[in-house]
Amino acid sequence: MQEYFLLFIITNQSGISKGITTDFEVELVNKYIVETLLFNGIIINQVFGCRHKTEDNCICRKQKSYFIKLADELFNLNLRKSFIVDNHPCNEEECGLNVGLTPIYVLTNQGNKHRETN
Ligand SMILES: [Zn+2]
Repeated sequence: MQEYFLLFIITNQSGISKGITTDFEVELVNKYIVETLLFNGIIINQVFGCRHKTEDNCICRKQKSYFIKLADELFNLNLRKSFIVDNHPCNEEECGLNVGLTPIYVLTNQGNKHRETN
């Protein structure tokens, strides 16, 4: 798969703006994840993180498409041939569907719970 796709991580880290964690700690975790994946032959091209709370109504919070569009600008992606993998169900305005991505909904972690509440 690595030879056919660029891989990105888009993550909400509202704990930063809530004061639960810091930018530095989040960066450390992201670095660990990226390095662990790299050690296993998986290249993450970039990590995009929103540090805001839901109620901030920022432009970059996942499920909005801001970071997808930014990745498209930075890496000249073909969004119509791209996928988004998430454990949140998508609607037409969210998580890249409005920019042409094909969603892959996984039930890992909180995925099952989100399926039951949507
Ligand atoms: Zn944000």
